[in-house]
Amino acid sequence: MTTLHSALVSVYDEVVERNPGEPEFQQAVAEVFESLAPVVDKHPEYADGAIVQRLVEPERQIIFRVPWVDDAGGVRLNRGFRVQFNSTLGPYKGGLRFHPSVNLSIIKFLGFEQTFKNALTGMPIGGGKGGADFDPKGKSDAEVMRFCQSYMTELSRHIGEYTDVPAGDIGVGGRELGYLFGQYKRLTNRYESGVLTGKGIGWGGSLVRTEATGYGTVFFVDEMLRRHGETLEGKRIIVSGSGNVARYAIEKAHQLGATVVACSDSGGYVVDEAGIDLELLTEIKERRRGRVADYAAEKGGAVRHIVGGQIWDVPCAIALPCATQNELDERGAAALIRTGVRIVAEGANMPTTPGGIAALRAGGVLFAPGKAVNAGGVATSALEMQQNASRDSWSFDYTEERLADIMRGIHDRVLETADTYGVPDDYVAGANIAGVTQVADAMLALGVI
Ligand code: NDP
Repeated sequence: MTTLHSALVSVYDEVVERNPGEPEFQQAVAEVFESLAPVVDKHPEYADGAIVQRLVEPERQIIFRVPWVDDAGGVRLNRGFRVQFNSTLGPYKGGLRFHPSVNLSIIKFLGFEQTFKNALTGMPIGGGKGGADFDPKGKSDAEVMRFCQSYMTELSRHIGEYTDVPAGDIGVGGRELGYLFGQYKRLTNRYESGVLTGKGIGWGGSLVRTEATGYGTVFFVDEMLRRHGETLEGKRIIVSGSGNVARYAIEKAHQLGATVVACSDSGGYVVDEAGIDLELLTEIKERRRGRVADYAAEKGGAVRHIVGGQIWDVPCAIALPCATQNELDERGAAALIRTGVRIVAEGANMPTTPGGIAALRAGGVLFAPGKAVNAGGVATSALEMQQNASRDSWSFDYTEERLADIMRGIHDRVLETADTYGVPDDYVAGANIAGVTQVADAMLALGVI
C-alpha cells in the first residue's frame, strides 16, 4: 500500500482491527483511501462529521441460514448475506452473488465499492450487496429454484422498492432472478416490480439491462480512446470471463469494429484469432451451461484451449478483466506490458490486485477502475426502476442511448474531478474522489444518522 494521508492512518488501522479476517474488504478500503489525500485537505468538515469513519461502517449487515432440499431429498444448508452499506443517496442497490467463495468480506467489499459506483452514475441509489455461498453449477433447475425460494423467504423481510433493491451478479442471472421475484411476490402478495432489477422483459424488466454492464464497459473504453483521437476500429482485445459482463463486452466491441481474440472461465482460456464467435459462446454458456473448453472443442482448427495459465499472456492492445476479483496480478500485468497493452479497463469488480495496478501504471498503461467502467449495469438498473415506477417500458435504442450518455457522463466527470483535485488523467483517483465526495456531502446534509 502507498502511504496514506496522516488523518486516514488511524481510521484505516481501526478498519483492520474491527474487520479481522476480511482481506477483500480491507483491500477495497485501502484502495479508496489512497486516493483521498486531496479530499481530506480540501474538506475539513468531513473530519468534523466523522464522515470517513461512517463511510466504512455498513448501515446494516444481515447474515442468515438458507436450508433447502436437493433432488435426492437431502437437506442442504448455505449461508446467506445482505449488507446494506449506505442509503444516503437512495435505497440500497446492488447485486446478489451465488458462488462458493462468498463470505462477509467479499460482500462488504462489493457493497463498499457499490456505494461510490452508484454515486458516480448520478442516479438516486444507495449501495448494498448480497449473496450466498451456494454454487448453482451442477444443480438442477428445481434445486436452484428451491434454493432461491428459501433465500428469498428471509431476504424478503429486508428489501422493498423504497428500501433495498437487489439485482444479479456472479451466479445470479435471469433464471435465479425469476425464482427470487416469484417467491417475493408470493410472500408479500404484491406485484412490486421495483423490488428487483434485471427482471425478464416479459415481467417488468428493462431492455438493455442484460447487456448493460458489458456494453457500458466498452462505451467507457471508447471514450478513453476518443480522448486520444482514436476509436475501437481494428483494435485487438482480450476479455477474461465468459459470463454476462464478458459476453456483452465482446458483442459491443465487435459491433464497434474491434476483434476480441480470447476469453476464459475458471477452467482456462480460449484463443480464437478470427474473433470469438459470440453466438456459439452464448449457446454453450447460457443454454447448455457448458465451458469455454467446449467452445474450442466445437470450433476445432486453430482455436486453442489453454488449461491453467493466464489469459494475460495473449497479446492485445486492450484488456478487459470481466470475471472476478483479484484475477489480474503483477505477473499478469507484466505479461500484458511485455506484449504491448495500452488500456486496461475493469469490467469486473476489483479484478486487478493493488500490485497489478501499480505495475500497469508504472508501465505507462492507461488504467480505469471497475467502479467507473462497469457502472453501466447499475445505471440501467436505475432506468429499470424508473420504468417500473411509471409503469412504462422504453425501446432498446432509446435505453441504449441513455446508457451511452451515462457512460460518457461518468467518464468526463471522473477526469474533471481528477483535474480539480490536482491528479490529472488519474481515472482511479478521479472515480474515488467523485464518488466519495458526492456521498459525503449528502451525509453531512442529512446529519448524524
Ligand atoms: P457471471 O456469473 O455471469 O460470470 C462470471 C464469469 O467469471 C464466468 O465466466 C466465471 O467462470 C468467471 N469466474 C468466476 N469466478 C472465477 C474465478 N475465481 N476464476 C476465474 N474465472 C472466474 O458473472 P457476471 O458476468 O455478472 O460478473 C462478472 C464480474 O462483473 C463480477 O466481478 C461482478 O461483480 C461484476 N459486475 C457484474 C455486473 C452485472 O451486471 N452482472 C455489474 C457490475 C459488475 P466459471 O463459469 O468457470 O465460474
